[in-house]
Amino acid sequence: MAGDTVLVINSGSSSLKFQLVEPDSGEALAGGIIGEIGEPSGRAADHEEALRLAFTQLAEDGIDLKTCGLSAVGHRVVHGGKAFYRPTLLDDDRIAELEKLSELAPLHNPPALQGIKVARKLLPDVAHIAVFDTAYFHHLPAAAATYAMNRELADRYQIRRYGFHGTSHQYVSERAAAFLDRPLDSVNQIVLHLGNGASASAIAGGRPVDTSMGLTPLEGLVMGTRSGDIDPGVVSYLWRSANMSVDKIESMLNHESGVWGLAGERDFRRLHSMIESGNSSAQLAYGVFIHRLRKYIGAYLAVLGHTDVISFTAGIGENDALVRRDAVTGLGELGIVLDEDRNTADGKGVRRISADDSRVAVLVVPTNEELAIARDCMAALAQLEEFPR
Ligand code: AMP
Repeated sequence: MAGDTVLVINSGSSSLKFQLVEPDSGEALAGGIIGEIGEPSGRAADHEEALRLAFTQLAEDGIDLKTCGLSAVGHRVVHGGKAFYRPTLLDDDRIAELEKLSELAPLHNPPALQGIKVARKLLPDVAHIAVFDTAYFHHLPAAAATYAMNRELADRYQIRRYGFHGTSHQYVSERAAAFLDRPLDSVNQIVLHLGNGASASAIAGGRPVDTSMGLTPLEGLVMGTRSGDIDPGVVSYLWRSANMSVDKIESMLNHESGVWGLAGERDFRRLHSMIESGNSSAQLAYGVFIHRLRKYIGAYLAVLGHTDVISFTAGIGENDALVRRDAVTGLGELGIVLDEDRNTADGKGVRRISADDSRVAVLVVPTNEELAIARDCMAALAQLEEFPR
């Protein structure tokens, strides 16, 4: 096989996604997901078994990791804290440092670390590189990154708005600028990453200036099972009055809230069918989701002052024409006019869904976090060759 390849691993608490990517061509050579890890119905008892299954699957697809030009294994790590914001070559010391960060992201970082350890054990002769979901937002302006709370406490506990889905926001904003045939630094953008997790970002001339997620991926938009913005008073109130532990409240806000919490369904395809059959909970959930999304669009139009392009991405953003319509309908006065035929037309790549006379271009831009991670890994390797550490 010609050219370098990178195996990208996204290790979550109950699933392990993997994809073998050729960064130069952008091609995904193979990949899959091993789900329900540790569950009785699942095929893998733990992450090690899951990764072994992934390798078996790759072998069945005719891929031999020893001869496929594997340059690196890229690991998606959700939280980089204040210290990690560049793709990082992993060794025992770095992993120990990363382990300390698990306190900041107890739901997300431990499974990634498990994936890293297992992958290093099974593929000891290749570089393992962590790419952080927070990295892109590391240099957010202080006014956007700072919570208005006791400063000494915030500093001591590294409390700031970190932002997540960074690889996606960066990748999509670069694709959007390229599609418009404009230099990245000349375009002001809003990127709406709407998947099971959802986040918005405002990007001025290629630099992120605000994003909706914060210390954790819980803040911001309404999501599949996460509440998004909520008065922190709810937490103390439930703790005091409903006799719920902090862990229970956190779990409720992450796993039993959002669209699912309101409608008992998180998949937007089924949510729309429920609405069509008159289900009022589904209608409410959709209404709350859209209302919050429009609030963020409005906020970011104001943060940017001038906006050139709004891009929709991820599972909902790329596929759900109704969400896209309802997110920007009636914003003609702000220069945003959708073309309903373009919006509902089938399409695969980057496409324009705004009318020709819309001052702000509205695009659908498929995200590709695996490719972005693979390219980050290659760039990190090239830098290491130049400046070995
Ligand atoms: P992601 O996290 O980016 O994989 O997005 C997953 C979510 O995208 C699913 O839970 C669905 O809500 C949504 N989704 C995927 N395909 C479609 C579709 N064709 N129409 C509407 N929503 C979709």
